[in-house]
Amino acid sequence: HTLDQAHLSTLPAAIVRPGHDRTKVRAGIAHIGVGGFHRAHQAIYTDRALARPGQEGWGICGINLLPQDAAMAVAMKKQNGLYTVSEMAPDGSHVSRVVECMVEYLYAPDSPEAVLAKLSHPDIRIVSLTITEGGYLLDEHGRFNLEHPTVAHDLANPEAPQGAFGYIVGALERRRKAGVKPFTVMSCDNLRHNGAQARRAVVAFARARSPELAEWIEREVGFPNGMVDRITPATDAAARQKLRELTQVDDAAPVICEDFIQWVLEDDFRNGRPDWHEVGVMFTKDVSPYEEAKIRLLNASHTMLSYPAYLSGLRKVDDALHDKLFFSYLRGFLDHDAGVWLKSLPGLDIESYKDTLLRRFGNRAVGDQLARLCMDGGSKISGFVLPTLHAILENGRPYHRIAFFLAAYDRYLKGKDEKGEAYPINEPNARPLLEKVMASDSPMTLIQLKEVVGTQIPAHQGFVELYLKLRQQIDTQGVVATLTSLDPASK
Ligand code: NAD
Repeated sequence: HTLDQAHLSTLPAAIVRPGHDRTKVRAGIAHIGVGGFHRAHQAIYTDRALARPGQEGWGICGINLLPQDAAMAVAMKKQNGLYTVSEMAPDGSHVSRVVECMVEYLYAPDSPEAVLAKLSHPDIRIVSLTITEGGYLLDEHGRFNLEHPTVAHDLANPEAPQGAFGYIVGALERRRKAGVKPFTVMSCDNLRHNGAQARRAVVAFARARSPELAEWIEREVGFPNGMVDRITPATDAAARQKLRELTQVDDAAPVICEDFIQWVLEDDFRNGRPDWHEVGVMFTKDVSPYEEAKIRLLNASHTMLSYPAYLSGLRKVDDALHDKLFFSYLRGFLDHDAGVWLKSLPGLDIESYKDTLLRRFGNRAVGDQLARLCMDGGSKISGFVLPTLHAILENGRPYHRIAFFLAAYDRYLKGKDEKGEAYPINEPNARPLLEKVMASDSPMTLIQLKEVVGTQIPAHQGFVELYLKLRQQIDTQGVVATLTSLDPASK
């Protein structure tokens, strides 16, 4: 079956449609970073909202900025912004949907002016983002990297930017001049206080252009914080083939994800928003305890698992979860390391959240890639793992799992797994720092990189000694034997 506007009504009956008339829908949201996650998460909630009365103004205009998105651009243009999402349950059942809310799509390299004009248009009332954790260009002190080549380019070329902040600030500047109310900037990346971080980056960029503009943005623009959750693997060739068989739809950019979905948002939308609260999004005054729980449990578990499991030769997250040793390692991390510091909240019971997490990770039908989780470790460790480690050190609790994890990360940065297979190291942000580690023979190089591991680790003699011992043991005996020695009961 062909997927485009003209063939929408001829899709197989099993493909669920959202139930709104997309020909009447106009874009009120512009989303930068149309990848798998946005299309499986925000777009699904938005499709649900559009099926309610009076919501026609809240369609999405998808925008991609980077050369790596060229294939997505071709697919979205050919398919009129339509694509399928297949939601896979742990019991093997699934629901496939066609998502209809992306009623416009722009590929910025084709025409930066078209993107600036779109973002400046009064119809656009929210600009949302999934530009990855490192895409905010903030260091551990929250300082924005004004020297980043894209930032430097955009400051020098305000009418033809390349990066997210160049577009956002450029459009806000035009709106201010034209007397048009600003849009809300909504980050959907996995960062603590993602709204506050987006604000920091946008305001810092704006200040470099004009202090008055920066002040206006600080005063007038809402940057809601949000906690987002839905495991969405990259759609690799195998997934593409499987989805084609499952859906019988000829989709050049299908999405596969789990059936679980969650979104907790602060309600700082000063220029309106869709009725997301009617369709499953939870609104709260302070999202921090929710994001803290999710980042410390889910994202940290992903990071803790990915490097040792990958080194041992595994490639899929579910395979690792069905391995007794790795399961027990994660269970231990959730119960004794990360979970200890968290409290249950309305809508989030910590004990059942942990159990659900392990079930979600073990979902055979999702087949999430360990390689996806191994990406950008240099940016993730400080936010995901260090808060737990610091609490452990302050309270004199055992830190062997985290020492083991860091030793495995150091070993991973050597670029070859224990079966001798080489892999690309994907560190889009911390790479310049990590190059020292990659080239170094000393395991000390990593744990002296305070940008990656903070300052407490190198100062803690006990931790450093254990890390060095485990690092050596990984070289001589391998990750599996090393982990087994830490947790003999899991054998
Ligand atoms: P993806 O690779 O499918 O898509 C990411 C998109 O963002 C791509 O279009 C990419 O080109 C673009 N992008 C990356 N860096 C950018 C930058 N600096 N500026 C502008 N655009 C940039 O990845 P994804 O799975 O969609 O994940 C994107 C983000 O969503 C993650 O980094 C994470 O913060 C968040 N997230 C993902 C998941 C998940 O399970 N995949 C879950 C929760 C949150």
